[in-house]
Amino acid sequence: MARKAEWEKLKERSLKKFGEESVFGEGSLNCRLAVVGEAPSKHEVEEGRPFVGNAGKLLDELLKEAGIGRSKLYVTNVVKVRPTNESGGSTTNRPPRAGEIREGIGLLREELDLVKPRAMVLLGGTPAKALIKKSFTLKSEHGTPFDTEFGMPALATYHPAYLLRLRGVGSEDYNRMRQQVVEDLGAAWEHAQGSHEG
Ligand code: URA
Repeated sequence: MARKAEWEKLKERSLKKFGEESVFGEGSLNCRLAVVGEAPSKHEVEEGRPFVGNAGKLLDELLKEAGIGRSKLYVTNVVKVRPTNESGGSTTNRPPRAGEIREGIGLLREELDLVKPRAMVLLGGTPAKALIKKSFTLKSEHGTPFDTEFGMPALATYHPAYLLRLRGVGSEDYNRMRQQVVEDLGAAWEHAQGSHEG
């Protein structure tokens, strides 16, 4: 079966398993680099696409600054369903639970086996802990490539949503951290050009 058809089939299976409000990955099936985030948020569920809300818009800016076009990437999340808390009639995001991450990794593994990027860049601590090692620390290990059990190396950096929070509180760290993420994205891109054959 052609790769695109296999991918469509996997997407269909994901939507069946996780529900019509779940968000599957998207992008180039010939990519060298895959971007893996945590889980979709409100806008992603509304549009059925990963990284299209505020964090996604900032991600697009950061990629552009790193000289990377999003169309050259495959973009997905570890968890395909928006993790939420309901309270007093309002719905808020919460971090995904261990079981949700485990289930998500099962599907992500199939997605990566099919897309076959040469490397991954992981956004935030959740995918880094889930795909590199439980003890992963962004502060000391961001930007460093690690081997993974998924058949390709991964490098993690700070999540754009974290940058948005820093910007929101007027933190002096914002510009420095933002530049760091741009550099990490560039390093991941370079690593994906150089690593493995394909
Ligand atoms: N945050 C994520 O980790 N993934 C998305 O798709 C959107 C926001």
